[in-house]
Amino acid sequence: MSTEVRTRFAPSPTGYLHLGGLRTALYTYLFAKKHGGKFILRIEDTDQEREVPGAVDLIYKSMRQAGLDYDEGPDVGGDYGPYIQTQRRDLYPKYAWELVEKGGAYCCFCTKEDLEQQRKEAEAKGETYKYNKKCLHTVSLEEAKRRIAAGEPYVIRQNVPTTGKASFDDMLYGHVEVDCDTLDDNVLIKADGLPTYNFANVIDDHLMAISHVMRGTEYLSSAPKYNLLYEAFGWQPPIYLHLPPVMVESVLMDKATRQPILDENGNTQPVVRKLSKRYGDPSFEDLLEKGYLKEAIINFIALLGWAPKDTNEEFFSMEDLIRVFDEKGINKSPSIFNTEKLNWFNAEYIRRMTPQAYAEAAKPWLTRVLDPERFDLDRLCELLQARTEIFSQLPGMVDFLAEMPELDMALFTNKKSKSTPETSKTALEFVKPILEGIETWTETNLHDVVMAAIPQSGMKNATVLWPLRIAITGRAATPGGAFEMAYLLGRDETLKRLDAALAKL
Ligand code: GLU
Repeated sequence: MSTEVRTRFAPSPTGYLHLGGLRTALYTYLFAKKHGGKFILRIEDTDQEREVPGAVDLIYKSMRQAGLDYDEGPDVGGDYGPYIQTQRRDLYPKYAWELVEKGGAYCCFCTKEDLEQQRKEAEAKGETYKYNKKCLHTVSLEEAKRRIAAGEPYVIRQNVPTTGKASFDDMLYGHVEVDCDTLDDNVLIKADGLPTYNFANVIDDHLMAISHVMRGTEYLSSAPKYNLLYEAFGWQPPIYLHLPPVMVESVLMDKATRQPILDENGNTQPVVRKLSKRYGDPSFEDLLEKGYLKEAIINFIALLGWAPKDTNEEFFSMEDLIRVFDEKGINKSPSIFNTEKLNWFNAEYIRRMTPQAYAEAAKPWLTRVLDPERFDLDRLCELLQARTEIFSQLPGMVDFLAEMPELDMALFTNKKSKSTPETSKTALEFVKPILEGIETWTETNLHDVVMAAIPQSGMKNATVLWPLRIAITGRAATPGGAFEMAYLLGRDETLKRLDAALAKL
């Protein structure tokens, strides 16, 4: 094995990059960069039935968007390519046959029906099914070669010892050991000639000189078996670090209908389950589409099951992460995906943007509902920046500017401003001629003129300003006060809305 640190992210192109996968990719990237090593992208597409069209391109795109630039990979090249497993298909049988010759694997001609029969027999005896090594014992290598030459379909299986133990050492989970007699003789090369994941991951990690393998704990129990393959080849295995899953607090759902399963009282039942696209949990792409900032997502994902040592700092750029990342800070227990925390990070990152960067990011969302010719979007952006949690919320926060919503008369009653529909009517009748008298419609003018006039009304500021804002926006919460909203709406629209409200009061 090379002394250089070489890590890889090896997704299967089965859909979007889910957040658990993104976290694996991120830690794998950080580990390589931290140690001055190389980060490699490998596409594991040998299970062709599960491949989703377009998924490979989406992986490239998501990796770039996330800032996880790989040093070697299908679309960037490298000395260890090709980096797509189906393009390496001719290389695996050679290694499988090497194992067959060494006794570490054998050809199996059992048909689906044979295997089904074996499974039924095992189940009848109450045993967990595993292949009974029939072909190992009954088909000699010469016979196998003859039958293959005659065109008979076959697979190549790993010959797992029936006694002893298989083990490996994990950086996080320590020594993991299993009894060999619990392991199945997995298929290494399928009838279509393609390798299974079980075989290809070993061959490729070796041939690509991968020094450290990081992946989900779902592979923890198979790793001892992979180590048997390394031993059979006489290769040094990589160093492993299996990552605990990302969980989410949810409710029990029916897999088929994707509806909550209710208990006898008709209540939903809380569960903690793995983050899953199937149940509508967001992928990285979904979050970007919803208007989360990639820096915020990465920061949040980094802290999902990892914490830096000796600091309470929570904000990390990618450069910071490369500097402070230490695999010893990875938590062994599953982490919980918390949307509020993600939203908080996003809001914080938005607050830290320059006003120009914010406006650039916000305007495409604002113009979905607002005509940029009609509204001063730069001023609106100034008002919105501190109030934005997720960009996708913006249209709903400003659409009242484009069109006055149905006026909910209950809003004119407000304890804090001591407003009632009656005081509101008086206030609006008072403020209307004052607004009509304002020629230069600027925020400062609106503010100065109205504030100077209010004392003559005998009412408190809030008793005048609350109904004014309600009358022209129809909303209890707006991204700014009455003067800012009046300025944005413009003179004619403000007065028109004021008249309409008065007519109702
Ligand atoms: N192709 C596997 C997956 O997508 C990768 C496992 C590994 O990293 O070895 O889960």
